[in-house]
Amino acid sequence: MGPLRAAAARGLRRGGGGGRGAAPAAREGSKGSAARGGRPAPPAALHLFGDPAEVEALRGSLLAWYDECKRDLPWRVLAVTEPDVNRRAYAVWVSEIMLQQTQVATVIDYYNRWMQKWPTLQALAEASLEEVNELWAGLGYYSRGKRLQEAARKVVSELAGQMPRTAEDLQKLLPGVGRYTAGAIASISYGQATGVVDGNVIRVLCRLRCIGADSSSPPVIDRLWAMANALVDRSRPGDFNQALMELGATVCTPKAPLCGECPVKQHCRARLRVEKELALASRKLLGKLPVVPDVEDCGVGGCPLCPPAAEPWDSSLGVTNFPRKAAKKQPRVEQTATCVLERRGRRGALEYLIVQRPSSGLLAGLWEFPSVPLAPGLQQEQQREVLVDHLQAWAGQPVAAGSLRFIGEVLRACERQRGEESGPATGSKRKRGAKPGAAGSTRPGTQLSLRTFLRAPNPP
Ligand code: SF4
Repeated sequence: MGPLRAAAARGLRRGGGGGRGAAPAAREGSKGSAARGGRPAPPAALHLFGDPAEVEALRGSLLAWYDECKRDLPWRVLAVTEPDVNRRAYAVWVSEIMLQQTQVATVIDYYNRWMQKWPTLQALAEASLEEVNELWAGLGYYSRGKRLQEAARKVVSELAGQMPRTAEDLQKLLPGVGRYTAGAIASISYGQATGVVDGNVIRVLCRLRCIGADSSSPPVIDRLWAMANALVDRSRPGDFNQALMELGATVCTPKAPLCGECPVKQHCRARLRVEKELALASRKLLGKLPVVPDVEDCGVGGCPLCPPAAEPWDSSLGVTNFPRKAAKKQPRVEQTATCVLERRGRRGALEYLIVQRPSSGLLAGLWEFPSVPLAPGLQQEQQREVLVDHLQAWAGQPVAAGSLRFIGEVLRACERQRGEESGPATGSKRKRGAKPGAAGSTRPGTQLSLRTFLRAPNPP
């Protein structure tokens, strides 16, 4: 291992919890029915869309607003103008996958480049994973692009290039396509009257119907799906679903909803509650007897959709009392030792060893400097031993522990660098893309196999 030099660094990685679990079926009318003070139990209608005339009115108001106010987005144009049903479904599918966890403004440029490069399922199926990852770089959650491509290959090789034609089949047959994505593709591309539930829809529905129970719990999610499926406009399902999501994204926002501009405010029970409270407060202020009935949750002691008794309605929050989520789990923290292994190559340039991560799990299939997870509490010397063992397993030959040089912790180094870059010094700005030190002498684009890298190069 003579010509190899190595520098090791520790870094922290954070891993998060998984996605939403499958929701067990919730039954209509199973909400709490406790009686209060001898009076009949309050109806659970507070949480329902029980009046067909109201549902019609809500659909009409929402669609009229959408027609007038919707944002011009490239996937919306394709969903309307693309005559080929497979290409149309593919165009919607790509947008839905990119929009998961990523802002619309960020996605637009990625989407345009993607559709230019791979305008069809067939084109995507022929791309390499490296090409997909390259275009995806910066969007995050690389597994989304990888699964999208795997699914495209499946459509081409196993389904004769034909996209499944219903939400049920899309979810069943395509890897990476969950209930939401399947509903979005089917309603927007095929006009199937099926609802969708994403974060924006959850927020809007919880406010429209005063749902204050944990909105990530399976029974509540199940109820929201039932609601979305019942509400969706039968003649314009794709537009209706997009309108509901658009409303959540632009008007019924998480922290500062624009209720005064909301096209469905007359159907919103959270807003009604706020108005009643204000009316009540002002009458009390004027010393008048309250003629406005007191506002309260729909049931006592057990409505599964009302806020929990321990966290009742908070007047200072207004409509943002809804939705509510259980406290987030703390992210898992992992510490890894990373090794930058370098040698001087055949033409005198520095070469670095990078290896591919496993095909599943965090950052699956991506390339990195060799790294190994560290057990908590290891001393620096023990960390070095762990890393040496790992490198020997990679290289298939002994690695001298003495050749490893500790260069620091990635997070601390980043903080230090950030501090230096934001300092007052002038005239020392590094050019964008310029590399510090000798590493800048590497010729870009030279890629060697692991075997070639580990073979000592001929002297220059
Ligand atoms: Fe959201 Fe306000 Fe509209 Fe209700 S009235 S749906 S809280 S923006």
